Amino acid sequence: MSRIAYVNGRYLPLAQASVNVEDRGYQFSDGVYEVCEVRGGRLVDERRHIERLRRSLSELRIAMPMSDAALGVVLRETVRRNKVRWGIVYLQVNRGVAHRDHAFPPAGTSPSVVVTARNLDAAGADRMAADGVAVITVPDNRWERVDIKSVSLLPNVLAKQAAREQGAREAWFVDKQGRVTEGSSSNAWIVTRDGKVVTRHADHAILKGITRAVVIDALKEQGLELEERAFTVDEALAAREAFITSASQVVLPVVRIDGKPVGNGAPGLIASALRRDFHRFAEAT
Ligand code: PMP
Repeated sequence: MSRIAYVNGRYLPLAQASVNVEDRGYQFSDGVYEVCEVRGGRLVDERRHIERLRRSLSELRIAMPMSDAALGVVLRETVRRNKVRWGIVYLQVNRGVAHRDHAFPPAGTSPSVVVTARNLDAAGADRMAADGVAVITVPDNRWERVDIKSVSLLPNVLAKQAAREQGAREAWFVDKQGRVTEGSSSNAWIVTRDGKVVTRHADHAILKGITRAVVIDALKEQGLELEERAFTVDEALAAREAFITSASQVVLPVVRIDGKPVGNGAPGLIASALRRDFHRFAEAT
């Protein structure tokens, strides 16, 4: 199947889809992105993803490239043209094309917009969730505004590669105080021995995940006890369960941290239930 990308107003086969070499996304990582789950051809939590996009852009003083409604049309059209049923749609907005100069380009420079979409292996993901995944820990060496969903992801790239090389699915960043911030592309959670569900409070040190927000809604509705606070690696190792959340992986149980088992070494009940029930709490449009 030939794949199609939306690039600045045009839908093009991937081989012909390209951006200008003076695009500031390419030159400076001067842009932001969103990844939205596609389920049965529908977008999951589009409203919240567009809200977060607006916030990321506003923090970087980049204009919204088009109306929410127009963006919704482009996302859906890209999903449709790529025949995506179960997968993801990726959206990137950069500050635009200009002669290379670190400072902002002239006012009126149009932001660039790229959208791609692809199917994911849903059965493979379910098998991975049934087994649980391993994570490693790495020092959090990122900048202090990772609440902005910037495309500048070098520490995340290196962390994920380190995980792969050690046979793990994800790397958890650990701050200077020894507390877990989040995964290289996911939020991190534990369930304590006394049944409290813990995830780091959303300040500037983590990305405020959309999946995280939906899981919080689900926990509240089910009367489970939630604590938004930092936790250490030792606390995670002593926990009953651990899991990660992201739009592309939903909820994924974590069964090993740095080679040591979490709980009894099998996916936990709460994580598994959250994965099963997640879409009852998410919006699909
Ligand atoms: N943290 C980081 C660093 C991420 O890259 C992601 C995935 N985009 C998340 C958390 C999870 O966010 P979401 O649930 O919105 O996908």
